[in-house]
Amino acid sequence: MSNKDIFTPLDLGYTQIQNRILMGSMHTGLEEEKNGFEKQASFYEERAKGGVGIIVTGGIAPNLFGRLSPFGHQLSFPWQIKKHKKITKAVHKYPTKICLQILHAGRYGYHPLIVSASKTKAPISPFKARKLTSLEIRKTIYDYANTASLAKKADYDGVEIMGSEGYLINQFLSPCTNHRTDKYGGSFENRSRLALEIIRAIRKKCGREFIIIFRLSMLDLVKNGMSFEEVIKLAKLLEDNDVDIINTGIGWHEARIPTIATMVPRAAFAWITKKVKEHTNLPVIATNRINNPEDANKIIQDGTADMISMARPFLADPEFVQKAKNNQSHLINTCIACNQACLDHIFKNKVASCLVNPKACHETEFNQNKTKRKKKLIVIGAGPAGISFAIEAAKKGHEVSIYEKKSEIGGQFNLARRIPGKEEFNETIRYFKAQIELLNINLVLNFEMNLTELKKLDADEIIFASGITPRTPKIDGIDHPKVISYPDLILGNKKAGASVAVIGAGGIGFDVCEHLAYESPKDSTSLNLDEFLKEWGIDTEYKTRGALTKKHTPPAVRKIILLQRKQTKFGKSLGKTTGWIHRQSLKDKKIEFIGGVTYEKVSDEGLHISQDGNKRVLPVDSIILCAGQVSENNLFHEAKSELTIPCHLIGGALLAQEIDAKRAIDEGVRLANSL
Ligand code: NAP
Ligand code: SF4
Repeated sequence: MSNKDIFTPLDLGYTQIQNRILMGSMHTGLEEEKNGFEKQASFYEERAKGGVGIIVTGGIAPNLFGRLSPFGHQLSFPWQIKKHKKITKAVHKYPTKICLQILHAGRYGYHPLIVSASKTKAPISPFKARKLTSLEIRKTIYDYANTASLAKKADYDGVEIMGSEGYLINQFLSPCTNHRTDKYGGSFENRSRLALEIIRAIRKKCGREFIIIFRLSMLDLVKNGMSFEEVIKLAKLLEDNDVDIINTGIGWHEARIPTIATMVPRAAFAWITKKVKEHTNLPVIATNRINNPEDANKIIQDGTADMISMARPFLADPEFVQKAKNNQSHLINTCIACNQACLDHIFKNKVASCLVNPKACHETEFNQNKTKRKKKLIVIGAGPAGISFAIEAAKKGHEVSIYEKKSEIGGQFNLARRIPGKEEFNETIRYFKAQIELLNINLVLNFEMNLTELKKLDADEIIFASGITPRTPKIDGIDHPKVISYPDLILGNKKAGASVAVIGAGGIGFDVCEHLAYESPKDSTSLNLDEFLKEWGIDTEYKTRGALTKKHTPPAVRKIILLQRKQTKFGKSLGKTTGWIHRQSLKDKKIEFIGGVTYEKVSDEGLHISQDGNKRVLPVDSIILCAGQVSENNLFHEAKSELTIPCHLIGGALLAQEIDAKRAIDEGVRLANSL
C-alpha cells in the first residue's frame, strides 16, 4: 500500500502536476465548429476550474494525411497559434496543465488521402490506405515535431502522442498492419522506429521541460497485434527516450471487444497497467471505465498506477475532482458509460455532449446566472426529465416541488438499472436523490396528481414530465396469462417460463433478452471481471499477440426468441458504438432472432406468427411485450384547457416514440435554464 492518493501531486522534476487525475483525450466535435476555439475554451476552462490535474485535448492531426475526417483539425501553421492560445489561456487561469494530443489517424481516417505502414484497409473505414514512402515517413516525423513546437508556442504544457487504439503509430508497431520490409518494418526494433524517432524529434525541438505523454497500446485486442514482450520493450524504450508519462491504451477501434461501454466492469483493464508498471520507472496512467474517486484512489494506493485517466466522467461532471476532494462523491454526476451522447454523436458528425449532463460541450448555450425572478414550479413525474428539470430549476434559484405517483424516483431508469450490465443507472438515481436533498426540492411520492389537486396548488408554472406507458399491441389473445409487460418482468412482478418470445427488438427488447438470459438479475455475471474477460476472450496471461483467446459465454438459462416485424438488421436503432456489442452478446448467448414476422395471435399453444406467408406457432411459455410506449399526457391537456398559468410538457410525456433518456434530460435542463 502506498501513502499516495489521487490528490498527491505528481512531480516530474521540472514541473508538478497538482493531482493525479488526467482528463483523457476526447474528440468533442467542437474542434470543427464555428467559433470552435471559444467553445473549446469554455469547455476546458470549466474542467480546469473543477480542479483536474492535466487535460489532454482531443486528437489534432500533424498533417493533412493524418486527419480523422476531411475537415478534421490539424495544427501545422504558425497562424493557428493565436487560436489555440484561447484554450491555453482559459485553462491556465487555474493550476491545471494542458497537453495537446497529436493524433495521426493512419488508416482510420475517413477520407481518400489516408496512409499507413502498409497498403491495407481497416474494417471500420471505407477507404484503403496507401503505404507511406520512406521520404514521407521522414516528413511525418517532421510534422509531428512541428505540431509539438507550435503547441509549445501556443502555451500548451506538453503533448500526448497517440500511440494506441489502432491509429498510425500503432499501425507501425503491430505486425498485423505493418508488412514493410524496410527499416520501419519486420523486427520490433524496426516497427518501433517511427514512434521513437517522433519522440526524439519532439524533444529536440521542444526541449526537456515540455511534457511528453505517450499513449501506449498495452492490449491491442486484435489478431497478430503486439505481444506482451514488445509492449514492455517499448515502455523501456520510451523511458530511455525521455518520455515523461506512459498512458494506457486498450484495444484498437476495430477490435470486437467492448472496452469502455457500460457492461465493461469498472477498472477492468487496470491489471495490464499494473503489469507494465512493473517494468518501467516512468509514471504510468490507468484508464478505461474508472468513473468514481473510490476506485481511482484504490488504484493509486495499491500501486497499480501513478495517475488515473478519466475522459467521459468529465463530460458528466466537470466538478468531479473538486467534489471528490470535498468528500462529496455522492454529489458527483457519474458517467454511466452509455456512449449515447458522446461517442455516438461523434460517429454521426454531431457535437458531443453527455446523456446525464447536456451542458457538456454546450457550455456557451446555458445561462449560468441565478434567476432574478424566483418562481414556484410544480413538476409532475420524477423520471429523468422531471428530475433534471427540477435540479436545474432549483440551482437557478426557483422553488420546486415534484409529485410522483410511484413510491420511488427514477422512472424508466428504475427498469434500466435492473438489466445485467446496466447497473451504472443506479448512480444516476443516487445523484438525483443527493441533489434533491441538497437543493431542498420538495419531493412528494405515492401521489397521483389530478386536476382538482393541481388547482389547489399555488404554482407559477407546471411542468408535466409524466412519462409513458408501455404499448399493448393489438394482437388476438394479448390478455392471455402467458403475456407479460416488460416492466412486470423486470420489476419481478411476473416470472418468465423456460421458453420465451420477446415481441419488439428495440433497445428494451434487447435489454429484456439480457435480463432473461440469467436465472435472476442477482445471478448476473456480466459485471464480474473474470467472467467478462472470459466472455470476450481476453488473454490475461498475455501468451498470444494482441492478447486474444477463445471466448467462453455461458448460454442463456432459457430458450429466448427475439422478434420484430421489420426486415431490417436487428438492433438497428441501438447506438452506433454499442449496438454491435448488444447484438454479439445475444448471439453468444444463443438467443434466436426472427425478423419480418406478423403476429397472428396468442393461445395456450404459444405465439402464432406468420413469416413470408407461412404460419407457425412458437410453442413458448411466456411472451414479453417490448413494443414501444405511448405518452402519458392526459392531465397536461386537461390542465392546459382549464388553467391560466403556463404548462409545459417534456420527456416521454411529450413524445413517446423513440423516447430516450438523452432527449428527456436535455429537454428538462434546457427548459429550466430558460425560465
Ligand atoms: P423502440 O425502440 O421504439 O422499439 C419498440 C419495438 O417494438 C419497435 O422496434 C417495433 O419493432 C416494435 N413495435 C412497435 N409497435 C408495435 C406493435 N404495435 N406491435 C408489435 N411490435 C411493435 O422502443 P423501446 O425498445 O421500448 O425503447 C425505448 C427507447 O429507449 C428507444 O429510444 C431506445 O432506443 C431506448 N433504449 C435504448 C437502449 C440501448 O441503446 N441499448 C436500451 C433501452 C432503451 P417492429 O415494428 O419491427 O416490430
Ligand atoms: Fe458517460 Fe453516457 Fe455521458 Fe458519454 S453520454 S459521458 S458515456 S454518461
